[in-house]
Amino acid sequence: TQGSIKAMQAAKPLNAMITETPEKALEMARAADARRAKGEAGLLEGIPLAIKDLFATQGVLTTAASHILDGFHPEYESTATANLWKQGAVMLGKLNLDEFAMGSSNETSYYGPVVNPWRAKDGTRLVPGGSSGGSAAAVSAGFALGATGTDTGGSIRQPASLCGITGIKPTYGRVSRWGIVAFASSLDQAGPMARTVRDCALMLQAMAGFDPKDSTSVDRPVPDYVANLDGGVKGMRIGIPREYRMDGMDPEIVALWEQGKQWLKEAGAEIVDINLPHTHYALATYYIVAPAEASSNLARYDGVRYGLRVPGKDLTEMYENTRGEGFGREVQRRIMIGTYVLSAGYYDAYYTKAQKVRTLIKKDFEQAFQRVDAILTPTAPNAAFPIGMKNDDPVTMYLNDVFTVPTSLAGLPGMSVPAGLSSGGLPLGLQLIGKPFEESQLLRVGRTLE
Ligand code: GLN
Repeated sequence: TQGSIKAMQAAKPLNAMITETPEKALEMARAADARRAKGEAGLLEGIPLAIKDLFATQGVLTTAASHILDGFHPEYESTATANLWKQGAVMLGKLNLDEFAMGSSNETSYYGPVVNPWRAKDGTRLVPGGSSGGSAAAVSAGFALGATGTDTGGSIRQPASLCGITGIKPTYGRVSRWGIVAFASSLDQAGPMARTVRDCALMLQAMAGFDPKDSTSVDRPVPDYVANLDGGVKGMRIGIPREYRMDGMDPEIVALWEQGKQWLKEAGAEIVDINLPHTHYALATYYIVAPAEASSNLARYDGVRYGLRVPGKDLTEMYENTRGEGFGREVQRRIMIGTYVLSAGYYDAYYTKAQKVRTLIKKDFEQAFQRVDAILTPTAPNAAFPIGMKNDDPVTMYLNDVFTVPTSLAGLPGMSVPAGLSSGGLPLGLQLIGKPFEESQLLRVGRTLE
């Protein structure tokens, strides 16, 4: 823990942390030592982790990287983090992210962008991906042995890919959402980010499980993810969706995907071409459903109950001033899109239509999974890009999520495993998509790729 704290402080220029809690970490580490001495060690005893600042941590500033949550010290602890502490993990502090987890580059944070520990050959500073950019950078830089992430449309998988680490978004309902700041409630899912598949399996083991405080949490036993890791892929059928081979796709990404197929084939898996015909509509569907839910979830930040309050001459003006100053541009954009697609007169044309397409996307996967055990795709369409490069064009930014949002819309588990380097020497990941609650199998396939 002491080494991790030093490394965290040395890594300050990455801006991966919003709040550091070194004293708390040392206190937790001492408690872990004491338990270990008594032979009572948990699964993660004494392991220093960092927590995305979207998880409520009791008594510790929780910001969602937004100005509007200034000074918010929750009186409660999220279930997912409480589960980690129960297994003996130690908290280093709270990680930077895109504001309210909206973004793909960690540039929408009120606390400034996170810098990817990987640099371009000419030294240019690159984004770590997002929204769990701080999480990916902290693990990649090596000061946190693992980090929590959340994934609504790719926010665990895409930054894992851009920083050369492993991350898994579990099945919707596998990890409790209780105490996690809500972005789009029907999509949000928390999961682990770590260096290896094994570390992810250990963390997921601790985080997962039924929680009566989250009505969408699923009451199903948590399997032993670690025990099942090394079974290999012999005889498994791995699907390759034709629709993910998009026009204008970077040849490096195509080559990486081919390489992944090859590795799995050599390990004894059978490669099967499949179709996911509604893939083309996934991005548009996501960028209706997610902002719609966000606009509703973010209505609670009104200057009355939490964080920032900017006074005005009456209540309405106080609301306007608080929300106008407290939310950044991307968050305001999402609230406006969301409010629009939910408004009377447009609801059926946009929101209801998007929900119908979402069902079709889900059905595509159900059909494919009658023929295959898991699906292999690239995680992201590109490697890490320079800070500032895609900032002026939200649509270009949204394209980062093209391979990850379909899984989220279908509620399926997805994981990114580091699989190679681009010609610029930057990490690239491959994505594995699994059947509902088949995280075990996914981790096993991931183990073959790493
Ligand atoms: N990049 C996507 C978005 O901006 C996904 C974010 C996420 O998964 N939290 O909505």
